[in-house]
Amino acid sequence: MQDEVLVLGGGVAGCAASIALARHGRAVRLIERETAPRHKVCGEFLSGEALEDLDALGIDVVSLGAAHIANVRLAAARRAAEAPLPFPAKSLTRKALDTALIAEAKAAGVRVEAGRSVESLTRTPAGAWQAKLDNGSVYTAPTAILATGKHDLRSFPRPDDPQRWVAFKMYYRLQPAQAAELANASELMLYPGGYGGIQPVEGGVANLCWVVQQPHLARAGYRWDKLLLRMQQACPHLALRLAGAEPLLEKPISVARIPYGYIRRTTEQGLYCVGDQAAVIPSFTGDGISIALHTARCAVAAFLADEPAPLFQARLRSALLPQMRLAEFAADGINNSLARAVLPFCLRIWPGVMRVTAKLTRVAAGQAVVVSQPVAG
Ligand SMILES: Cc1cc2nc3c(=O)[nH]c(=O)nc-3n(C[C@H](O)[C@H](O)[C@H](O)COP(=O)(O)OP(=O)(O)OC[C@H]3O[C@@H](n4cnc5c(N)ncnc54)[C@H](O)[C@@H]3O)c2cc1C
Repeated sequence: MQDEVLVLGGGVAGCAASIALARHGRAVRLIERETAPRHKVCGEFLSGEALEDLDALGIDVVSLGAAHIANVRLAAARRAAEAPLPFPAKSLTRKALDTALIAEAKAAGVRVEAGRSVESLTRTPAGAWQAKLDNGSVYTAPTAILATGKHDLRSFPRPDDPQRWVAFKMYYRLQPAQAAELANASELMLYPGGYGGIQPVEGGVANLCWVVQQPHLARAGYRWDKLLLRMQQACPHLALRLAGAEPLLEKPISVARIPYGYIRRTTEQGLYCVGDQAAVIPSFTGDGISIALHTARCAVAAFLADEPAPLFQARLRSALLPQMRLAEFAADGINNSLARAVLPFCLRIWPGVMRVTAKLTRVAAGQAVVVSQPVAG
């Protein structure tokens, strides 16, 4: 059977799109660079919308051991405030989630090429998409879905990250008292030059994921351990959580050049861009996975309805724009030193504010869905 759709990248968005297409009887080939899912830099928070989409794909995160998250805490300087989350949430390691998604894609009949990197994606004179892999193989199909996450394909570069963000992730086994304190909560911590989140994931482990602007990393001599110490000095709440904690990775994993706020403007005929290739929302919202699943679902609906990819991409942009701009505005606020200085005094009102911002910065299920419509004219 000829491939009808090539999906490039087998993370959340690529797998979600592949599974949905295969279930609609389409011949799909998924190309993923890694031979097997590995740890990714991610806070691993799964919002209510993400959980709904995963459930629809047949991924039961509870059976995978996902931790339940009921509350969110904000810690700045020496103060912390707590609020219940206004939606159900879980957290699960990306390794477990991506493994389950790839398995589901295979079960749905997707032809998975794992351990192969796409080196280029070009259009043939006949208008089909042709992917050239690192082993020299070439695959062609009339439609392609670009889901390579934060990584560019040379043929489709994205703008660079002007604020030069660097992100890290580390797993810890916390001391029992700290693990008990953290249970069922996702904690957001603010410090100069960035913010970090800590929350439980499966297996009694805590995920600490943090972002920092490059000049602040430079001030710590480009050393993650010194950076972490500075963060703990600025935010004693983090020091409390990490006291006596056992690091579970040799060193944190990291990623640079994260173009927060990016939303793809346009695309070419037959090329649907999803996940981080469509939009990169500031990490503190914990919404990237939800957007990846949402954009994949919308792209599949658009493809099945014969909506041209450029029209789909423009509609998706308009639908995501308000949420993205609000999230960026909030991110600027928490990264602004004046705002950080007054924030501790505002923490008493934070739970209420947080409930509102949490709602506003999320893709409302019915709000951002791109409805395919016939092209006018
Ligand atoms: C610091 C940080 C914290 C975050 N925390 C959260 C959070 O708590 N909750 C949340 O919902 N979101 C969070 N996110 C965002 C979330 O991780 C991403 O938005 C999400 O992973 C995007 O999914 P994706 O499928 O587009 O990309 P990915 O999941 O990154 O998948 C892309 C896949 O493409 C593959 N690939 C790349 N290049 C090629 C190539 N050339 N050929 C073949 N394969 C290729 C990669 O190996 C990868 O598997 C966070 C992001 C950061 C940076």
